[in-house]
Amino acid sequence: MSILVVGSVAIDSVKTPFGERAEALGGSATYFSIAASFFNRVNIIATVGEDFPPEYIRLFKNRRIGIGGLHVAKGKTFRWKGWYDYEFNTAHTVYTHLNVFKNFKPEVPRELRKSKHLFLANINPELQYNVLRQLERPRLVAADSMNYWLEHKKKEFERLVGKVDILLLNDSEARQFSGESNLVDAARFIVSAGPKVVIIKRGEHGVMYFSKNSRFTAPAYLLESIRDPTGAGDTFAGGLVGYLSKTPRINEASMRKGIIYGSILASFAVEDFSVNRLLGISIGDIHARYRRFRTQTRF
Ligand code: AMP
Repeated sequence: MSILVVGSVAIDSVKTPFGERAEALGGSATYFSIAASFFNRVNIIATVGEDFPPEYIRLFKNRRIGIGGLHVAKGKTFRWKGWYDYEFNTAHTVYTHLNVFKNFKPEVPRELRKSKHLFLANINPELQYNVLRQLERPRLVAADSMNYWLEHKKKEFERLVGKVDILLLNDSEARQFSGESNLVDAARFIVSAGPKVVIIKRGEHGVMYFSKNSRFTAPAYLLESIRDPTGAGDTFAGGLVGYLSKTPRINEASMRKGIIYGSILASFAVEDFSVNRLLGISIGDIHARYRRFRTQTRF
């Protein structure tokens, strides 16, 4: 019952009001897989260049993250550079160098086609759809996207969302896709477009969950220090899908718990640059914060 993720494995350079890191490990599949690896075995489908540092490969191996589908291509690894000011919900991109990602055609190795849980991180929706079709009979499919694809590949995105169980979008993407400014209206529109569930991520304001018949809202964990919000969304997805992959039943109650685990994982990720904080915690730290989250939100 393992997890498969397709997305980016990247080298990021990030600046925030609390510091700066150059050429650090990043990418949506990276954040997702490290978060989900606290719960279950994860396999990555992605591509990197020949310059990808061997210590990062070791890092995946040490966490028992499967890299049989991590293709090393001729050329340079995907690079992203961005900065944030005190308003952490908006990333300002300095550059996106696609490099080997330009020719990325994800192929799911035969032995991974039986994977039961799939996360389609933010890449071209045509590629996401292609990966989905290669799986035999997944139990859970979750997908993420970004404003660029909603604008430039709307039709392909619409075809994809008809096939996913959970669609994750941030608030501005949900408004853009639905053409609604009220998020409840936006969520209603999105659910009518296909996914069983939409989860709208609102950064420090928490998340909103909508299905046809129910709604749930969770605040973000109250943090003392936030240094770098990069990867929070993918880390959230890793906690959510990781938790759900281990539950005997995926239903309303387990989704709610999964959302809290996702929020907890994301709260750790933003405490330091790159994946540094995630590498320093244990499942015990996650459960402890889960209990504190309960106290913070009980009334
Ligand atoms: P998030 O903060 O959750 O939106 O994700 C940030 C991660 O996404 C960074 O580590 C980047 O390397 C990666 N990223 C940025 N732009 C793209 C893109 N166009 N395609 C794939 N991954 C990207």
